[in-house]
Amino acid sequence: MVDSLRPKGGLNEVRAIYFDLDDTLCGYWDASKEGLRKAFEQHGPEGHAIPDLIMHWAAAFRGFAPHIKKTTWYEGYLKNAEPSRTEQMRLTLERLGISDPDHASKLSHAYMTERDRALKLFPDALHVLGLLKDRYPLGLITNGPADVQRQEIETLQVESYFNNIYIEGEMGEGKPLLSVFNRAAAAVECQPHEVLMVGNSYGHDIKGALEAGWHAIWIRRDSDVPPSADGKDSKPESKPEGAPEPDATIETLSQLLPLLGL
Ligand SMILES: [Mg+2]
Repeated sequence: MVDSLRPKGGLNEVRAIYFDLDDTLCGYWDASKEGLRKAFEQHGPEGHAIPDLIMHWAAAFRGFAPHIKKTTWYEGYLKNAEPSRTEQMRLTLERLGISDPDHASKLSHAYMTERDRALKLFPDALHVLGLLKDRYPLGLITNGPADVQRQEIETLQVESYFNNIYIEGEMGEGKPLLSVFNRAAAAVECQPHEVLMVGNSYGHDIKGALEAGWHAIWIRRDSDVPPSADGKDSKPESKPEGAPEPDATIETLSQLLPLLGL
């Protein structure tokens, strides 16, 4: 049974906790949607409804972003998100028959600025981090470009809660790779079964943690739907059939506390 991946002991053996950032501690997809809306409001192109423009961006995103790790864009993307973000805007405009690199740059810059302005922690995040910080070493393991992830940490003012911060863009590799989880466990001098991962992505956070022998708690919110989702009734990510179960599935960060006896 695949379920045997999960450590045998309960959560009372946990001695260190790592969190994912986007859509675990902060509402990244909500900020992304707001950033896109504002960028298209500010810079058009005129003659199109905003939802239609976002739909074209989403289609361009689906054609580009999921494959980025396999392209020559990846190395640059790890350090600096601007070129690939602008490329996605260029592809969006191209779908509308517009070829205008300056327009793509303006949209890209507005999207980044407005997304950052809209980025917020979930309401219970600081309360939960504050309580846990007194009892466990805490860490962050987040995928994404170094510049964007560092900016988010700065915007959200959360750096002081974490003993260790691992960013895909800085490591050159990301979740769910085993090496990422092994490095994080070694940094807190814990055996795998003594570490807990809390994250919203089954494919990145939960699968990776369980395969590394960690405990894993999956946070699933109804709002966890990317702007690139195909169709209005898109649902949050589901667990692939037959994939191992996390220790628990929760809907808010506060629900972590009783699971850890707090
Ligand atoms: Mg996430």
